Amino acid sequence: MADANHFDVVILGAGSGGYACALRAAQLGLTVALVEKGNLGGTCLHVGCIPTKALLHAAEVADATRDAGQFGVQASLEGIDMAGVNTYKDGVVQRLFKGLTGLIKGRGITVVEGAGRLVGRDAILVDTADGPQTLTGKNVVLASGSYSRTLPGLEIDGERVLTSEHALRLDKVPASVIVLGGGVIGCEFASVWRSFGAEVTIVEGLPRLMAAEDADSSAQLERAFRKRKIKALTGTMFESYEKTETGVRVTAGGQVLEAELLLVAVGRGASTDGLGYDEQGIAMDRGFVLADERCRTNVPGVFAVGDIVPGLQLAHRGFAQGIFVAEEIAGLAPTPIDETGIPRVTYCDPELASVGLTEAQAVEQHGADAVESLVYDLGGNGKSQILKTQGSVKLVRRKDGPVVGVHLVGARVGELIGEAQLIYNWEAFPADVAPLVHAHPTQNEALGEAHLALAGKPLHAHS
Ligand code: FAD
Repeated sequence: MADANHFDVVILGAGSGGYACALRAAQLGLTVALVEKGNLGGTCLHVGCIPTKALLHAAEVADATRDAGQFGVQASLEGIDMAGVNTYKDGVVQRLFKGLTGLIKGRGITVVEGAGRLVGRDAILVDTADGPQTLTGKNVVLASGSYSRTLPGLEIDGERVLTSEHALRLDKVPASVIVLGGGVIGCEFASVWRSFGAEVTIVEGLPRLMAAEDADSSAQLERAFRKRKIKALTGTMFESYEKTETGVRVTAGGQVLEAELLLVAVGRGASTDGLGYDEQGIAMDRGFVLADERCRTNVPGVFAVGDIVPGLQLAHRGFAQGIFVAEEIAGLAPTPIDETGIPRVTYCDPELASVGLTEAQAVEQHGADAVESLVYDLGGNGKSQILKTQGSVKLVRRKDGPVVGVHLVGARVGELIGEAQLIYNWEAFPADVAPLVHAHPTQNEALGEAHLALAGKPLHAHS
């Protein structure tokens, strides 16, 4: 008789990486068990991408209302009702959650609720409400995700010292906030709170905001944030903090800052502690699980996907790796994912979007003489003028070779990354893109014009 606890694939964690793997594996006819101690959908759906982007959209509505007069529309912003914002945000999450739950059920995936641990190379022990249950799999996929890190001595209390999870549950707009960390999560929350009317100070130890992006993008973001009166203290190391009667006092770079709340956004560690990975001999580095380009750990039959694997911590990378592993297990021999070809978007105002190499990385890889770059200012783009946004399209190419990096700054540019990632991933030359017709007036045209310019035939730009 078939063992009801034995599957082709057992997956630990039902976030972006885990559930995508489950859906694809089931589609390919494999039997799948998906272990989850929280909610199907994981960080991205419940406390990550989706709720933060809903907040950012509400922030955009607030800004549009506040600035309506600039467009001849009479409106005034009376205030932010956080209960209303949260109802909207939670409604989006709940609808998607319901859809995902139905989808997983519909594919015949066995969902096992409870905390799991790797107890053998092919076995996961789950602490379910009905007692322990051991699942075995021909293949095991580790997808236990990540958690908000803090700094030594900086204690998260969930009231004045918050992580992004707490920040998503606030029931009022703080008067002032210090955001520790000028990466994606820090910049996005800084942007939301500023739009909602808070005084915001970002403290970042590195010399610039969004330090993983092209230096030009960081510079433009800093300029835009300055205009929005978001204070960014870059190259400023956090030293200490204390709670006060009304909030927090932070010492950083010798300065003393006070605010109602402190958001700690200093990166995310891998959720791997105590899950038995070490004991089963899985090779790890600082809590992260090491996997090769085929998402294989060093232990045969055990794969790893998503945020636990060093690299970009992004939902769509998790999806792609999950799908890859399902196809690999099913014997489809999929093509490995080019990590550099994964698009990156930060949804603050203005948005930042990029794919491929920064100019500095391209120079490092190919040499300064072999790299050419071009910046097309959105000032020349009709739709950008209509939206009253500033920003640019920056292209980095190998001289006489393909485009190796695209970097975008401006309102709504996240929506342009689709074309940019095709350009990068298809290794297009500027001359391949130049003849493609872009709809007018869209900001996509700016991508087209930048390629025209790089191909030596600028239309609206100066030659
Ligand atoms: P997770 O989504 O973290 O899922 C792991 C799952 O495993 C969780 O559900 C957890 O409960 C479960 N689990 C862990 N341990 C166990 C155990 N022992 N037993 C059972 N279950 C377990 N990415 C983007 O691409 N775009 C964005 O706009 C974006 N915004 C973000 C905003 C914020 C505030 C945050 C925090 C993240 C954001 N991300 C964004 C990142 C994105 O959420 C992650 O990259 C993605 O969720 C990673 O997927 P994952 O499957 O690796 O892990």
